[in-house]
Amino acid sequence: MSKNTFSKSDKKNTGSLKLKGSELISVVVPCYNEEESLPLFYEEITRVTDYMKEKYFSEGTADLVFEFIFVNDGSKDGTLKILRELSRRDKRVCYISFSRNFGKEAAMLAGLERANGDYVVNLDADLQHPPKLIPEMYEYVRSGEFDCAATRRINRKGESKVLSFFARSFYKIINAISQTQIVDGAQDFRFMTRQMVNAILSMPEYNRFSKGIFSWVGFETKFIEVENTERAAGKSTFNFRRLFAYSLEGIFAFSTAPLAIASFLGVLFCVISLIMIIVTVVKTLCFGEEVSGYPTTVCLVSLLGGLQLLCTGITGQYISKMYLETKRRPRYIIKETEESADRG
Ligand code: UDP
Ligand code: MG
Repeated sequence: MSKNTFSKSDKKNTGSLKLKGSELISVVVPCYNEEESLPLFYEEITRVTDYMKEKYFSEGTADLVFEFIFVNDGSKDGTLKILRELSRRDKRVCYISFSRNFGKEAAMLAGLERANGDYVVNLDADLQHPPKLIPEMYEYVRSGEFDCAATRRINRKGESKVLSFFARSFYKIINAISQTQIVDGAQDFRFMTRQMVNAILSMPEYNRFSKGIFSWVGFETKFIEVENTERAAGKSTFNFRRLFAYSLEGIFAFSTAPLAIASFLGVLFCVISLIMIIVTVVKTLCFGEEVSGYPTTVCLVSLLGGLQLLCTGITGQYISKMYLETKRRPRYIIKETEESADRG
């Protein structure tokens, strides 16, 4: 359990958790149906953070203070109950509970917005992002050489071959067509400086694709290579369909190359049909009218029809994203926080 000695009222404004000369580290955790993982996660994260606090304090190098920000993303199980209980027991625990499931991106954003820390570490609740790596990440960032430390998985153990194939293809495609380079296997387990977090929060887009955002904002990132870890409990909500939609989201959010490809195809087929028109006219003038060529016509008409629909569809994707952006809807709706629960 917590060894810190802050009064309960300090919790109302987590900014005041910070002692003079101390460093506040915010731990942001998105949670969706994590009732089985959460107790294990809490135990592990407090073990690691207590160790860090002790170590740096006794070395006299830093007085670390932690806050844990859990975001309940509309879970249907007992996640919220566990969070309420944790925040009652441990005053470093804050939680934000959404009115429904808004997705991991929204949950991460809410957590980052709430975080007050000089450093923010973002990780999953299922222990697939091992908290024991946080001290190493902190060292890298503290050294001043890096603004961010992140993990990168070097294998895809426990993942289906088909999924791995599509994941690899996704990275190849997006890196070929987007100026924002995304490291293959880079995870959302990130330890960042306040400056980098502010940069991320300055991106107001509605369609958020964090892997792209982390890379777009720049800054020096140290990638720590890790083996793929299996979930501690429960099961992943990212099935193939969801991952596929997520990768399209990434491509449309960070590249306009599909639009350029559509325009290129349009120009290409204009040139081809111009040549065909000239050839047909010349042939008709020289050799008279022919009725043959029916199959060619049918094939071309259906090919062009298909291409036109594809290109309209691609344009439609960007327009739909613009439509959602222009509505300026909030990314999430908060139903409860530990502060509102305290008030009753
Ligand atoms: N998550 C979330 N909202 C969702 C789906 C997932 O907040 O709609 C959280 C989930 O609780 C976990 C993290 O995002 O902490 C990663 O989710 P998951 O383990 O299902 O994904 P995977 O590790 O398979 O990519
Ligand atoms: Mg997971």
